[in-house]
Amino acid sequence: VPRIGVLALQGDVVDHMRALEAAGAEAAPVRRAAELDAVEGLVIPGGESTTMSKLLEIFDLFDPVKKRLDEGMPAFGSCAGMIMLAEEVLDGRPDQRSFGVIPMTVRRNAFGRQVDSFETEIEVAGLDGGPFKAVFIRAPWVERVGGGVEVLATVASAADSGHGGPDGAGGRIVAVRAGACLATSFHPEVTADARVHEYFVDMVRSANAGPDEQEERGTPG
Ligand code: GLN
Repeated sequence: VPRIGVLALQGDVVDHMRALEAAGAEAAPVRRAAELDAVEGLVIPGGESTTMSKLLEIFDLFDPVKKRLDEGMPAFGSCAGMIMLAEEVLDGRPDQRSFGVIPMTVRRNAFGRQVDSFETEIEVAGLDGGPFKAVFIRAPWVERVGGGVEVLATVASAADSGHGGPDGAGGRIVAVRAGACLATSFHPEVTADARVHEYFVDMVRSANAGPDEQEERGTPG
């Protein structure tokens, strides 16, 4: 059973722990470098990216997390967590830092001031079983993706689908994967649907599998 940490400085920690357990992982809160050493993957929850950036420095966790990410530790960032993984942050605070491990540009609070939160059904590449109910809370969107970033989901336009996001949100990128990193603008931990967490737990399992095990599971290479 993969042991996966949830960065527990601020934000939506408990729901992610529950969702990870529902997805077959062992979940552990991470507030210290020693706790980070004991996990094989990390969830960076929603919350407030400016605050999270500050707390990471106060708790001396920014550099240790950055080092593990650079070494290839699997990570899943939702909402503020997506912002933390991005290379470039628009509408951020000047002193806000991010880990820069996904070559993409995100815009904070992108869906508009009038639209603090909304829900819509989206198709997510790699998830079987139909659309996913995505809950957006002052969410970022992805404005640019660089090489090696796979777009997993976009918001349908309201006009096309009858249940899309707010005006102007149609076609915006809201879920990506780049190597061992997964990021969503929305909050899969607040719904009972564990498929996004299952997807991430599988990423952690395959990152851990040695070449022999990968062969047994039929993964090429
Ligand atoms: N707007 C927040 C930020 O910039 C993200 C909101 C969330 O995580 N729900 O960090």
